[in-house]
Amino acid sequence: MRRIGIIGAGQAGLVLALGLQKRGYEVTVVAEKTADEVRQGRLISNQCVFHPALQRERELGINFWDDEVQPVEEVAFKAAGAPGTTEPVISWGQKFDHQAQSVDQRVKVSDWMTLFEAQGGEIRYQKVTPADLDSYAVSFDLVIVAAGRGPQFDALFPRNAELSPYSEPQRAIGIAYVRTKHPMLPGLTFNLGPFGENFVLPVLSVQGNVHGIGFFGLPGSPMDVWQDVKDIDQHMEIGLRLLRSYFPWDAGILEEAEPAGPLEALYGAITPIVRHPVGKLPSGKLVLAMGDTAVTNDPVGGQGANMAAHAARSYQEAILAQGDKEFDEQFMHEAFGKYWAVAQHATAFNNALLAPPPEHVLATLATAQRVPEVAHRFAHLFENPVGYTGWLDNPAASMKYLAEATVRT
Ligand SMILES: Cc1cc2nc3c(=O)[nH]c(=O)nc-3n(C[C@H](O)[C@H](O)[C@H](O)COP(=O)(O)OP(=O)(O)OC[C@H]3O[C@@H](n4cnc5c(N)ncnc54)[C@H](O)[C@@H]3O)c2cc1C
Repeated sequence: MRRIGIIGAGQAGLVLALGLQKRGYEVTVVAEKTADEVRQGRLISNQCVFHPALQRERELGINFWDDEVQPVEEVAFKAAGAPGTTEPVISWGQKFDHQAQSVDQRVKVSDWMTLFEAQGGEIRYQKVTPADLDSYAVSFDLVIVAAGRGPQFDALFPRNAELSPYSEPQRAIGIAYVRTKHPMLPGLTFNLGPFGENFVLPVLSVQGNVHGIGFFGLPGSPMDVWQDVKDIDQHMEIGLRLLRSYFPWDAGILEEAEPAGPLEALYGAITPIVRHPVGKLPSGKLVLAMGDTAVTNDPVGGQGANMAAHAARSYQEAILAQGDKEFDEQFMHEAFGKYWAVAQHATAFNNALLAPPPEHVLATLATAQRVPEVAHRFAHLFENPVGYTGWLDNPAASMKYLAEATVRT
């Protein structure tokens, strides 16, 4: 039987581990934290997961929260106008064809770890260093590193400069889980402002049903404000000030809210990066990167967990197709290549969201307000970013499409 070692018990690693376990593979997951430590720990993500990734979880029978989670049924886009205006200059909503949902990764990861072990899977507990990987590589037919973002495996999986346009974080991120009495949309609200973005969405968290409210500020701008936050109460004050200043139409969300708990906030600044995914160890053995370890996007476009789930499916298909053959360098490049064939569009879409919106994108958002077809197409980029390429990356084609769609309306 083929033995697969997966370093990292996150959205990517666990979905792959559970999928391979179901197909009879002997899988060992190496986790930094126990299920309880994850569940009781600080907020780690905001994870709006769209239909294709949810379908993967449903196929594996690991969608335990469908009856409890408040679905994300639609998206509302609002863009701020001139300074001082109290209403958005662009405002439209669009129902998703299929509901999305946000289940706290602390809930998902801890439940999936428990399931994986209950089904006979092995979890070892260790914060793996690059130097530890050789000992794993000799004991397994294939070692996959799905240890999330960050610099810990920089030397093993160097940055691919050609595919990584940014070398610094593009947003200062502050997110909190809150309970609000304010009437809320059954979906995701996405606000665009002069200094960054704000979003709100329903989440099933370790604290039950709450709302996640996040701010993505341009570095050095008045929305880059999270450096010295002492506690969640101060976070709430800052968040309310940001809403009143830049998104006043939604200030009620925090005026009528309380924090969901002392650990329900997170801060960060993430450099989007695509890495060379095949790492060579001192012994000459190879390991393969997956999920955020291979490709990290800024969370502004909500693509990371979705692409992690896609990676798990895509890598599993490659592993099954390999049968009894060696997991050699060619296998690794091809497995990543199949994943990247889709993920490159998520990265392109996401990286474009980080740049100042060009004329044709602003025109698209404005047209979406009057032309439902455009709103539908734009909203569904979040669940299928493949549609970005050939559309919004091409200003002339997008303007032509807007004219045609307007005539059709
Ligand atoms: C603020 C924020 C908001 C987000 N919002 C969204 C969203 O709305 N939609 C979306 O799709 N994505 C979102 N994401 C991104 C998403 O959370 C990640 O892309 C996704 O979790 C990546 O999955 P992963 O399994 O690759 O990595 P992770 O989920 O980070 O999992 C990696 C795991 O490896 C473990 N680990 C790390 N190092 C080691 C080590 N050395 N040894 C052993 N174990 C280790 C970690 O503890 C962790 O359990 C958001 C992220 C952030 C930070």
